[in-house]
Amino acid sequence: MKILFCTSEAWPLIKTGGLADVCGSLPKALHALGEDVRLVLPAYPEVLERCVGLTSLCELTLTGADAPVEILAGHLSGSDIVLYLVNSPQHFRRPGNPYVREDGRDWPDNAQRFALFARAIVELAQDRAQAGWAPDLVHCNDWQTGLVPALLTREAPRPATLFSIHNLSYQGLFPATTFQQLKLPKALWSMHALEFHGKLSFIKGGIACADQLSTVSPTYAQEIQGSAFGCGLEGLLQYRADDLTGILNGIDTDTWNPATDPFIEQRYDVHSLHRKATNKAALQRDHGLAQDTRPLLLGHIGRLVEQKGVDLILDMLDKLFQHPVQLVVLGSGDLALENRLREAAACYPQQLSVHIGYNEQLAHRIEAGADCLLMPSRYEPCGLNQLYSLAYGTVPIVHRTGGLADSVVDLTPVTARTYSATGFSFDKDTPQTILETCLRALDYYAQPNRIDWWKLIITGMKKDFSWPASAARYQALYREMCGEETDQPRKLG
Ligand code: ADP
Repeated sequence: MKILFCTSEAWPLIKTGGLADVCGSLPKALHALGEDVRLVLPAYPEVLERCVGLTSLCELTLTGADAPVEILAGHLSGSDIVLYLVNSPQHFRRPGNPYVREDGRDWPDNAQRFALFARAIVELAQDRAQAGWAPDLVHCNDWQTGLVPALLTREAPRPATLFSIHNLSYQGLFPATTFQQLKLPKALWSMHALEFHGKLSFIKGGIACADQLSTVSPTYAQEIQGSAFGCGLEGLLQYRADDLTGILNGIDTDTWNPATDPFIEQRYDVHSLHRKATNKAALQRDHGLAQDTRPLLLGHIGRLVEQKGVDLILDMLDKLFQHPVQLVVLGSGDLALENRLREAAACYPQQLSVHIGYNEQLAHRIEAGADCLLMPSRYEPCGLNQLYSLAYGTVPIVHRTGGLADSVVDLTPVTARTYSATGFSFDKDTPQTILETCLRALDYYAQPNRIDWWKLIITGMKKDFSWPASAARYQALYREMCGEETDQPRKLG
C-alpha cells in the first residue's frame, strides 16, 4: 500500500516529545513490513540542516502563502523512506521550537502555518505535486494535521484517511474569525466538522472527518470517551467509537537498547544485569548524589507540564527523602515548576538532582542508571519513558492510566507469585499514593535477598514493546480501510 504519513515532528529530524519518536520509528517499521510509506513534514531549519540530497519537486500556489510553496523530496536519514518537506520560509523558517516562541507562548500564526501545511499535504495526497505518486491512504497525526481529513472530504476521488490522536489536550483551537482568514471551505464551518463551541478546532477536523481514528493505547481510547479525559470531545468520540482503535506505541530498539546504547556508561543486557550497577554509580557521581548502592535511585524525565504530575512529586518530597531514596529529574517547561524543582534540589543536595533543559544523552543515562522511573502523569495517552525503562531494567512506578495502565503490571502477591509483575502502579494521583507506592518499591528493593527484585526487572526486560507488533496492527487497519469504498467524499455529519 502507498501511505502518506503526515506529521509536524519526527525524530531524528525534529522532536519536542513522544510524537516525534513515534513518527520517526513507525514509518520505518511499516517500511520493513513492505509498505510504501512516505513522510511529509514542514521544512523547519533543523530539518533542512539534517537532510542531505534534497531536490525540488514543484512549487505550489496555495491559499495563505504570499509566495509559491516549494515541495522538496529526499530521504529519511539512515533509511530509504521518501521524505517530502513543505518549504515555506514565511511559515516554517524560524529558530527554536516548532510550536512555541522562546518565551513559551504559541507562535501567533500557528493556525496559518498548519493550515498551509494541510493544504500542501492535500496536493501531495491528490498527486498534484509532481511526485508521480498517489497514496492509497493518508495517515495524519494530532491537531497540526487535523485539517487534512476535513479538506480531503472536498475531493473525489481521494485516498482513505486515518487520524491518530497522540494527545487530545492539544487541540489547535482558534477564534472563529481565523476560519474566515484561512479561507477554508464554508461547508466545513459546521458542528460536524471544524466548529467547536463557536471556535475553530483543528483536531476536530481530524476526529469528525477522517474515515478511521486511532489513539496510542487501548485504555486511552476508552478514557477519551468519558468526560474526565475527553476534553469536551467525548460526545463526538463516543459517536465515532466504532471507528476508533487503540494501538500501543512501540519503541525504536535501534535507539533505545541498553546492549548497544552509545550514551550510557556501561552497556548491558538481561544476561549481564550486574553491569547496570555501573550506570547507577555513574549517575550518582555525575550528579553529585551520595555514591551508595543502598538508596533507591528514582528517575523522572519529561515535559514539565501539569499533565506529567511533577507538582505531585514535589508535594511529597519532604516525606520521601526521610527514606533512603534519591531522585534525578530531567525536564523543561513550566517556569514555576522549574523554579520549585531548583529550590527543592538546593534543600536536598545529596538526594535530589535537577536538570532543566532538553538532553537526549542524559535521558538515556537516567534510563540506564536509575533503579525506578517515576511517572505519576495525571493522564498519559501512551507514554514512552516507561517502555524505555522496561527495556533498560528500570522498574516503572506509574499512575494506572492510559498507556501506563496498558504497559505496566503492578506487583501484587498474585503477580509476584506468577512472575508477571513488571512494576508498581497506583490508582489515585495524589502525593500520598505516590509516596506510598515509592515506599512499596523501596521495601521490595531493600529486601536482604535481591532475587525478587532481579526477577521483577527481568520480567520487564523480556517484554517485547518493539515496533513490529504495533506496526502490524496499523498495517491491518490500513488494509481494512483500503478495502472500503473511498472514492466518494465522506458525508459531513
Ligand atoms: P510526551 O509525548 O507527552 O512528551 P512521551 O513519554 O510519550 O511524552 O515521550 C517523551 C519523549 O521525549 C521521550 O522520548 C523522552 O525521553 C523525551 N523527553 C522529554 N523531555 C525530555 C528532556 N528534557 N530531555 C530529553 N528527552 C526528553
